[in-house]
Amino acid sequence: MTGPNPNLACARSGLLDSLRSDGAATPDQLAELAAHHAACAACRGQHLVAARVDRAVGDRLRRRAAGSVPSGFAGAVVAAAVAQRAQALAENRFLRRAAAAAVLVALVAGGSMLTQSAAPDGARPLGEGVASARDAARTVVFRPRFEGR
Ligand SMILES: [Zn+2]
Repeated sequence: MTGPNPNLACARSGLLDSLRSDGAATPDQLAELAAHHAACAACRGQHLVAARVDRAVGDRLRRRAAGSVPSGFAGAVVAAAVAQRAQALAENRFLRRAAAAAVLVALVAGGSMLTQSAAPDGARPLGEGVASARDAARTVVFRPRFEGR
């Protein structure tokens, strides 16, 4: 029988060191890690390097987080959000008008087709219903959009 595989113990040490670095290692895992570091110079060296990198990154993040926010930043963010909401509302208003105009055009076109087919021959020129539907759409959609500004 051979003893425990040292490579496996070193791989586990790396995982435990990662857990320790995230603050997620249990006391038993920390004890296992310390025992392995006491016996394995390679893992102990890697642990020291990793701990130094962790400290440097943490220090850098804390310095950045403590940095001051430019003056007027909050106001600019609120103004941008309000402007974006107003633009979205205007776009939704346009879409609602366009949908209403589409329904109106369909109704007018359908109605004019019915009256055309019911009228005696030559009473209405072909395409008059489409032209009046186009006028209705222009009146409902485009005029309010440009007059409203
Ligand atoms: Zn090791």
